[in-house]
Amino acid sequence: MKLPELPFLRSNDIGIDLGTANTLVYLRGHGIIVNEPSVVALNQKTGRVVAVGNDAKAMIGRTPGHIVAIRPLVDGVISDYEVAEEMLAYFINKANSISKRMARPRVVVGVPSGVTNVQIRAVREAAKTAGAREVHIVEEPMAAAIGVRLPVHEPVGSMIIDVGGGTTDIAVISLGGIVTAQSLRVAGDKLNDDIASYIKDEFKILIGERTAEHVKIAIGAVEKSESSPESTIRGRDLVSGLPREVVVTEADIREAIGPSVARLVEATKEVLEATPPEILSDVMKRGIVLSGGGALITGFADLLRKELELPIHVAPDPLTCVVRGTGIILEDIDTYKDILIENEQDLPPK
Ligand code: ADP
Ligand code: MG
Repeated sequence: MKLPELPFLRSNDIGIDLGTANTLVYLRGHGIIVNEPSVVALNQKTGRVVAVGNDAKAMIGRTPGHIVAIRPLVDGVISDYEVAEEMLAYFINKANSISKRMARPRVVVGVPSGVTNVQIRAVREAAKTAGAREVHIVEEPMAAAIGVRLPVHEPVGSMIIDVGGGTTDIAVISLGGIVTAQSLRVAGDKLNDDIASYIKDEFKILIGERTAEHVKIAIGAVEKSESSPESTIRGRDLVSGLPREVVVTEADIREAIGPSVARLVEATKEVLEATPPEILSDVMKRGIVLSGGGALITGFADLLRKELELPIHVAPDPLTCVVRGTGIILEDIDTYKDILIENEQDLPPK
């Protein structure tokens, strides 16, 4: 006998974390089904998409002249609209093929705080064109806060710092709204750039973006650690033009990323200074939650703890907070209606 199918399990409604570095997709009733770099490889001769996600990231810095690997959200906003749309369509199709449903899905999309009306409209249009029936937009720090189950609806201040690839979003939330926030373009990518420039200046060799990221994740630390690890990297000698290897130390990386890390601490202080006293006292008691891939830099939480004298908690699985938040919203959309950006008027004027 064939059992009737549960409509819930057959949903192809999805939550998307449209991150500058990584795109994650939550399929209702399944969980996280996509976790891939936000990269699209395009053939410039034909205008066709050659690869998306993992396959496209593997091509960065390795493409022949007519193929370009594009990160359509590199500055935290849709900088390349058509490519972003192609990427969304690819991920929506992937969800459809897993759920085996072709109905047009309801979609909740997380966008960086500080996006403009025009950018929100672009995301909405891109998702619609890519096949969405309904598009609900949520600001990423809010989604991250929901993802780590902070009491966003209660009259109590919660603070989150999401250190992503292109942007760091710092937000204080109370009663379903963002009370104070800052979004700055100092995050994982900037640290990679800092490392590449430092190595160019100190060792006179050029390294690519991926090598810089690799060394950051391997030995990057904000403060001196006991093991003082080193890493061997390969690049091109600026003088001879030939390949050369150098050994970089944790101290090199620390020096390279120091100024950017200091800016993150500064921005956090500014947000705290702009926070009303009652809410500030909640934050002092309850502390700050760190999310996003950048939250994993060794020693960052300790540094904030020392500088701010507040409890600092790194979220469990910080790279998935936003998409888990969009999933929680999706499962119970009525509860979260008030925090979604349903039309462009919901945004404060910029
Ligand atoms: P986004 O939301 O902008 O897509 P993510 O939250 O996915 O960004 O974080 C991606 C960033 O986190 C990248 O810059 C990556 O280098 C960085 N990152 C990931 N893991 C680590 C780690 N263990 N240590 C330091 N940085 C990390
Ligand atoms: Mg993010």
